[in-house]
Amino acid sequence: MFGILRCPECNALQGCDLGFKTSSCRSCGKRVDLSNTSLTGPFKDQNEMRSCLWDMKSGKMTEEEVRLKEEILELAVKTRRGPMNRKQREELVLKLIEDGMDTEEKLSSSIREKDIEKEELLSVIGSLRKKELIYSPRYKVFKII
Ligand SMILES: [Zn+2]
Repeated sequence: MFGILRCPECNALQGCDLGFKTSSCRSCGKRVDLSNTSLTGPFKDQNEMRSCLWDMKSGKMTEEEVRLKEEILELAVKTRRGPMNRKQREELVLKLIEDGMDTEEKLSSSIREKDIEKEELLSVIGSLRKKELIYSPRYKVFKII
């Protein structure tokens, strides 16, 4: 069983294993007697305790810290989804041109959903042209060679 204790010395919140009689505060080092401290819990599993601890700590965050936390989480999700590598982007753009998205405008609106920036699109188009996979019959219009 696990619990969450607030250090009587420094007020820091931390998780603890209720199988022990005492727990050392990780912030100030004080040995806390678990039978003589108010605890949140008990929690059967550690993950449950951690998520509750995270919520309790979040509640103490300033608006700026909460915003930062959200940004970090969003970034983590994006990273996990994995940005497309260069080759995948080139293949995607080629496929789109083949499917009739043959102007810069159409291309940039259809790649926006895929988290690709316009600058990146222009650079991909540039390298596809250099490889002579596409050409531009008119300004900002592209065709497969
Ligand atoms: Zn402490």
